[in-house]
Amino acid sequence: MSGAPRVALVGGGPAGAVAARVLARRGLAVTVLEAHAAPPQKVGETLPPGLTPLLRHLGLETWLERDGHLRSQGNRALWGSQRAEESPFLANPFGNGWHVDRRRFESRLAETAREEGADWHWGARLASCTRAGRGWRLTVLREGWREILEVDFVADATGRHARLARRLGARRVCYDRLTGLTGLLESPMPAADTYTLVEATPGGWWYSALLADGRLAVAFLTDGDLLEKPLRQADPAAWWQLLRQSAATRERVEGHGYQGKTPLRVLPAETSRLDTIVGDGWIALGDAAAAYDPLSSHGVASAMGSGFYGGHAIADLLAGRDDARLAYLDLLQRAFGTCLDLQKEHYARETRWPDAPFWRRRQAAGYGI
Ligand SMILES: Cc1cc2nc3c(=O)[nH]c(=O)nc-3n(C[C@H](O)[C@H](O)[C@H](O)COP(=O)(O)OP(=O)(O)OC[C@H]3O[C@@H](n4cnc5c(N)ncnc54)[C@H](O)[C@@H]3O)c2cc1C
Repeated sequence: MSGAPRVALVGGGPAGAVAARVLARRGLAVTVLEAHAAPPQKVGETLPPGLTPLLRHLGLETWLERDGHLRSQGNRALWGSQRAEESPFLANPFGNGWHVDRRRFESRLAETAREEGADWHWGARLASCTRAGRGWRLTVLREGWREILEVDFVADATGRHARLARRLGARRVCYDRLTGLTGLLESPMPAADTYTLVEATPGGWWYSALLADGRLAVAFLTDGDLLEKPLRQADPAAWWQLLRQSAATRERVEGHGYQGKTPLRVLPAETSRLDTIVGDGWIALGDAAAAYDPLSSHGVASAMGSGFYGGHAIADLLAGRDDARLAYLDLLQRAFGTCLDLQKEHYARETRWPDAPFWRRRQAAGYGI
């Protein structure tokens, strides 16, 4: 291993973890730097059935069951009308989807990457990254200490903020200003319905999904600039008032006595990508490369997919195969284009509020790649 090329993966989310595993398997010396000291509670709980082949390939499918995540029956949508439409996963060739506890899920991803040989560091934040010959010199902050790491290649898997790639000169291209106001609700008599519920309202749309421990993940999605100040500041009273104006979401929450015990979070959820995804000696993976509207429930699947193909691209590039750059870019570009088309189609189906700014923006021509 000592003579193997050294790669630093910055960010230990789904993209970083899968790439780490691929690189370790291919015999590279891979170090993962994750700023959080332990897997953080992230939003994004619903995994679509389409992720099953990759989960199976990575040997992770059986872990979902064993780690106690919840099978999802399908999607229910009040979209374009007040009548709920159900899309059960029964007939899906890939089987059911999942509602995962992100902490447990990411902890498992990290563990499997370590088992393959990745050198994984929790609580290690990248502070700077500068050129050192053909490679890189990284300054890492850990428990108040500065450490220096020298590597041949760096990967940005830091999520939507793309902290490393932007430091290296890449720019973020944003397609909208979607923002999520998210809460994890608790109840003494939790719901049993494992459908993901999506409900359009004049100001945006609601999403809710049950977790295995009975908590309900609930989010309101709208454009950040359309939010009144109290909502922008995550005021629970304003959020609950808005929730009471919904129909099925309100019924799901109030019908089971759900309450918020943890603070609400205001999170960026826009569709965006970097203008440069692969540079000289670096690459971007997952949300850092391209991030999707949560309507698609595609974020984690896409992050893991790009971690997988990006990991192989890094190994190929380091082996002198320059065509790996174009192959990776082409893959990401096609996936992003397809997703934007589907997104556009989906938003076009909701025509009840043509004058509401949120919907007017999404009906406007030119929304897309
Ligand atoms: C409201 C909302 C709802 C969503 N719902 C869904 C859903 O239902 N299903 C779905 O599949 N997706 C959903 N997503 C998207 C999903 O959460 C993301 O696509 C996914 O987490 C991306 O994975 P990633 O590995 O690219 O980045 P992340 O999971 O964001 O991981 C990036 C990691 O990098 C670390 N990091 C950042 N800076 C540094 C640094 N300087 N040094 C070291 N580490 C650093 C962070 O701590 C973090 O752990 C949703 C997103 C939002 C906002």
